[in-house]
Amino acid sequence: MGLLQELFRTHGPAYLDRFGDAMPRAHRRVSAAIIACRTEAAGVTLYSCDACGQPHVIPRSCGNRHCPGCQQGQGLRWLERHRARHLPGEHCLLTFTVPAPLRAFRRRPQKVG
Ligand SMILES: [Zn+2]
Repeated sequence: MGLLQELFRTHGPAYLDRFGDAMPRAHRRVSAAIIACRTEAAGVTLYSCDACGQPHVIPRSCGNRHCPGCQQGQGLRWLERHRARHLPGEHCLLTFTVPAPLRAFRRRPQKVG
């Protein structure tokens, strides 16, 4: 069980009793999904093992994009993709929005060929 899931399970009911009416419904759904993630409450998948021949019941993950347990793999894959694109040497990446009147003057990456 992840730390966030443990926190939600331990303190979520008291928090919802106190602030649940003021919380957006979407936040309550996320909280419920994280609490149920990888438990039988989220449903189960039955696998039949070729090696031992026994059935195995695996609780499903919630798949919610806010669940750190479900999104950790995606985050790591994103990080690996971006690490592969890093320029050699030390550098930093800044992302910002250029005001609309200046966009016509910005320099665009040169096309090869
Ligand atoms: Zn999850």
